[in-house]
Amino acid sequence: MEEREVTQRTQKRKDIRSMDYEQLQQEMAALGEKPFRAKQLYQWMHEKLAGSFEEMTNLPKSFREKLKEQYDYTVLTLEDRLISGIDGTEKYLFGLEDGNVIESVLMRYHHGNSVCISSQVGCRMGCRFCASTLGGLTRQLRPSEMLEQIYEIQKISGERVSNLVLMGTGEPLDNYDNLLQFLKLLTDEHGLHISQRNVTVSTCGIVENMRRLADEKLQITLALSLHASSQEKRKELMPIAFKYEIHDVLDACRYYFEQTGRRITFEYSLVGGVNDSDKDARDLATLIGDINCHVNLIPVNPIKERSFVQPYREVIEAFKNKLEKNHINVTIRREMGRDIGGACGQLRKSYIDAKGRDAQE
Ligand code: SF4
Repeated sequence: MEEREVTQRTQKRKDIRSMDYEQLQQEMAALGEKPFRAKQLYQWMHEKLAGSFEEMTNLPKSFREKLKEQYDYTVLTLEDRLISGIDGTEKYLFGLEDGNVIESVLMRYHHGNSVCISSQVGCRMGCRFCASTLGGLTRQLRPSEMLEQIYEIQKISGERVSNLVLMGTGEPLDNYDNLLQFLKLLTDEHGLHISQRNVTVSTCGIVENMRRLADEKLQITLALSLHASSQEKRKELMPIAFKYEIHDVLDACRYYFEQTGRRITFEYSLVGGVNDSDKDARDLATLIGDINCHVNLIPVNPIKERSFVQPYREVIEAFKNKLEKNHINVTIRREMGRDIGGACGQLRKSYIDAKGRDAQE
């Protein structure tokens, strides 16, 4: 109850950090402010990454007071940060204004730093190999809350982020309008200015929104969580398959490539004894053989609430070889941050479980 009241209170005022430059100009005009105020504000919010209106020291105090009265200024609070001793991967747990928590990850590669962010609080897609889904969807993240994950990671780590993947908790295409606004702000030349080509959006396959995204003709990579070689097997792992036929999902991938020229990434979680057989590899090759694509094989992370196990190394290699023999580009995803807590969404889940235990005690 208390949580809902806080959400309603914070949502009454406009979320200034989710506004793009044109919207900000309109806001300033409506407040009777000079046009250059929009530029100053935008710089503070998205270039200098100010943590509050108070930090915007070249704005008159009276103007800052007015902003404080009228707008919400989204900032995340750091709840936890784990750093891998193996590969430097960092997991962040951030608190939102309404008391919810979300998880983000910083991964260091030779080509630059990549951040994986959450797009929702929880998720309602119900994929059976995923820890994020166990509590269902709590709420959508606003554009500013998606951006702030990257801003805070840059500030805390002191390092520039060059690549972004939307593969953390949530289904990005289930939060479509906020996703598009976020992408606009993220790639804006007056903000972080991350190249569209360095952004990957994953989806479990919401067909109509895949097609809408294709029509935007952005240069981002679309990663489809496929995870199965047939409609029946997909249904066992992903409830979304009851809504969309696998062939319709793959047609949407073909359409995405036609519209954008961007090669599709297929994510395939390998679950021991479920989707890792020779026949699965053959069926998969037949299914996607005509699509300009890359397959990412992900040996599944065991989740204690489900009885999934990782296949043996030889099985994973054999699966990869079979796809390669069929001329499909394929890599086995290197597990990052192995020592700092397993599957995506686990950190958030442990935090919520611990809070629940505290409350009971
Ligand atoms: S894998 Fe992604 S879409 Fe599926 S339940 Fe987890 S967060 Fe949601």
